[in-house]
Amino acid sequence: MADIIEKTESLDFIREIISNDVKNGKNGGQVITRFPPEPNGYIHIGHAKALCLDFGVAQEFNGKCNLRMDDTNPTKEDTEYVESIVNDVRWLGFEPAAIYYASDYFDRMYDCAVELIKRGKAYICTLTNEEWEEYKGNLQTPGKDSPGRSRSIEENLDLFARMKAGEFEDGSMVLRAKIDMASPNINMRDPVIYRIRRIHHFRHGDKYCIYPMYDFAHPLEDAFEGITHSLCTLEFEIHRPLYDWVLENLDFPNPPHQYEFSRLNLTYTVMSKRKLLQLVKENHVDNWDDPRMPTICGMRRRGVPAAAIRKMCKIVGVTKFDGITDAAVLEHCIREELNATASRYMAVLDPLKVTITNFPEEGVEALDAVNNPENPDVGCRKINFSKHLYIDKADFMLEPPKGYFRLAPGAEVRLRYGYFIRCTDVVKDENGNVVEVLCTFDPATRGGNSPDGRKVKGTIHWVSADDAVETEFRLYDRLFSVEQPGADGVDFLTQLNPDSKKIVKGFIEPAAAKLAAGTAIQFERVGYFAVDPDTKDSLPVFNRTVTLKDSWSKQQKK
Ligand code: ATP
Ligand code: MG
Repeated sequence: MADIIEKTESLDFIREIISNDVKNGKNGGQVITRFPPEPNGYIHIGHAKALCLDFGVAQEFNGKCNLRMDDTNPTKEDTEYVESIVNDVRWLGFEPAAIYYASDYFDRMYDCAVELIKRGKAYICTLTNEEWEEYKGNLQTPGKDSPGRSRSIEENLDLFARMKAGEFEDGSMVLRAKIDMASPNINMRDPVIYRIRRIHHFRHGDKYCIYPMYDFAHPLEDAFEGITHSLCTLEFEIHRPLYDWVLENLDFPNPPHQYEFSRLNLTYTVMSKRKLLQLVKENHVDNWDDPRMPTICGMRRRGVPAAAIRKMCKIVGVTKFDGITDAAVLEHCIREELNATASRYMAVLDPLKVTITNFPEEGVEALDAVNNPENPDVGCRKINFSKHLYIDKADFMLEPPKGYFRLAPGAEVRLRYGYFIRCTDVVKDENGNVVEVLCTFDPATRGGNSPDGRKVKGTIHWVSADDAVETEFRLYDRLFSVEQPGADGVDFLTQLNPDSKKIVKGFIEPAAAKLAAGTAIQFERVGYFAVDPDTKDSLPVFNRTVTLKDSWSKQQKK
């Protein structure tokens, strides 16, 4: 992984461009960027890549970055999404210089459209859908001029004003930019810039019945805000000539420039908001913040630290080439971050009773447990050792294979922060399953070392049955069982991982039961977990963020 990290130390192509612009005093050496999400869904880890770039360059070049809700297409937009976006952006560690709404510029955009008409650069077109098919041409054939193209400026102005006033039916006419019907770039064949749609806008109600198209609105939004570098993903590259055309034909001084970079794609998940919405609506996941979702709120609930997401974006870097990032890269960043920051606790997910036969029935002994071996500042806590304990079923075997260093009849093992214990006998149920392990402990091994130099290879985790708190563990795994869900025309919903969520009950030490929702911790030898908001005093709930090691790639190779 180290080689990937080093690569990102040189400037990427966007930072290269910006750095040169600043050196050359372009825009007075200023850098103003924006992050322009459409509030039609929750933002996901792909957006985090754009956020890291937009806010990152602004910060690095002493500029600023706006958060702009791109709310020009009201059909699927909602305040619920606006609130979540603002919250998620801040959680990721970015503070917008200002929060704007593209829809607040509707009147200015209308004026710009009027100006284009006055300059003979836009016209009203009344072609029907069928006619439109016939006139637009295709990649081999140029399009044909709409009869509206020769309409007089006066008539266009009159019709556009009446369009705005609501005199015409939805879909009966549009405003088109007059560019080039023979352009090899279909986006330049007199694109629609305004259409009639009677839809309720979550911010402006029914004030407007005409709405600007993205390709007309976006460059204007950027220009109104004085954006210098408008960064977006590669699918907009083919729209750039139109972006430039709009600004040129309205004579904006120091127009913004658009630069495109590749989208983030991650294996074992989907990223399009349409698909994420489908997962939520059809109950394949519990909600937008389901810990299996690639949404920022889902990742937060799962316990992924914002710093791990930022680190991954840095490793992935900014290029012009579309690719897929292995989910293992994100998991590596999560482990690295949590290893440094997460406090350690003990939990037993699949409990097996252990009785220490030579320990007094009512006896309790407080042992020192290290909170984080990576961070001595956070010190130690006390954990109780008693006659009745729980260990994990996987840490005991009646007939162990060679090389098994955990507990087995006659074998000795170290209890983490505790003593050496030796298994002397087992109790079985009527089916012959081991339900309890009887052990003796060696009082001289307190803290985990034997004064006689006796070695034990295995160390296992445990909790005292006397004060352990029953807990629900939600064990999450990848949402899809294939690397690229939906590839090759397969329905992505048929590729959901049936084992992506398992719920088990076990026990935790009492200190872990007092943690607030959202706290990220490590259960020693088990994995990284975070307290779920569903947690209750009577039943703590923990989400597994990630296992301690990457077990998935091994499993796939089998
Ligand atoms: P989706 O296709 O998932 O619906 P979108 O591109 O429509 O996403 P927007 O809300 O319009 O989502 O995106 C806001 C910004 O985030 C845009 O600049 C867009 O280019 C960027 N963005 C969206 N998805 C990704 C991604 N996967 N990787 C990088 N940037 C992204
Ligand atoms: Mg979009």
